[in-house]
Amino acid sequence: MNELTYNIPVHRLADDRTGGLIVRATDPAALIAALEPHDPERVIAIQLLALDADSEPLNAWAPGLPVELVMRDPAAEFPLLYRHSNLLDNHPVRIVIPVTPDFGKAVKTAVALDFAVRLEPGQPDPALIGELTAVLEFYLRQPTVAQPIEYFHSALLGFYHDEPMPLWRVLDEEPDRLRDVGDDGAESLSGRLAGIELTVTPDADLNAWIEQALATAEECRACAFLNSCGGYFKWPRRDYDCAGVKQIFGLLRAAAAELRHDVESVEA
Ligand code: SF4
Repeated sequence: MNELTYNIPVHRLADDRTGGLIVRATDPAALIAALEPHDPERVIAIQLLALDADSEPLNAWAPGLPVELVMRDPAAEFPLLYRHSNLLDNHPVRIVIPVTPDFGKAVKTAVALDFAVRLEPGQPDPALIGELTAVLEFYLRQPTVAQPIEYFHSALLGFYHDEPMPLWRVLDEEPDRLRDVGDDGAESLSGRLAGIELTVTPDADLNAWIEQALATAEECRACAFLNSCGGYFKWPRRDYDCAGVKQIFGLLRAAAAELRHDVESVEA
C-alpha cells in the first residue's frame, strides 16, 4: 500500500490515521492550538480556507511549513491577499485560485505580492479559455513574474525538458498518494475525483492509475498531450470537450520550443 497523505479538517485531527497530513482550517489561532498535541513531523502543509481571517499568528509559527491560502471567489477576494504578505517572511506560500470569471485579477495580485499560485482549472468552458489564455500570456511574457503559476510552470518545464508530468501530480490531486477527509470524517479521492469510486490494481502508482482508470477515454488515448495531462480534464464530467485546454497545452508546447531555440542560439 502506498503511503497516503490526508487533507483533513482541523476538527478531525483526533481521528486515528497514519500518514502525512495537510490540515485545513478557517481560524489560524485555533489551528495552532489544535495542532499543539500532535506530532509536527506529520504535518506537511496547512491550508487556510478563509482569506478574511487574521493570519498573523501563523507568521512566526512552524517556520518553513508550506501554507496555502485557498480562494473561493477570486474576483471578490483578491484585495484580501495584501493582508497575508507577511506570511512570506517564514513560509513558502501558495495561493489556490479557481478558474472562474475574472480570476486573472487574483493571479496578477498574487504574483505582484510574490506569492506562488496553484490554479484550480476545473473543466473550463469556452468563455474561460479566453481568460486562461490571457493569464498564460501574462505568465510567459511578463518579466516581473518571479513565482510559479501552476499548472503552467510545470507543464512548460515538462515540454522544455521532454519530461512531462501529469496534471494530477502538478496540481496535487494524485489518487495514488492523497485522500480527502470530509467534515464528517468520510474519506474519498481528492480534488476532482472526490466522491468517485475507481478500481485499480493494489499498489498502483500514478502511471498505473492513469492507464487503468483516469485516461481510458478514446480521446485521451489518442491525445498529443496525454503525458502532460493524464486524462485530468475528463473528470468529473466525462463528456467535457477538451478543445480549449488542448489549445492551452499547444501554447505551452510552442513556448517551450521557442525557449529552447533561444537558449540554443545563445549557446551556439
Ligand atoms: S487534454 Fe483531454 S483528451 Fe487530452 S489527455 Fe487531457 S483529458 Fe484526455
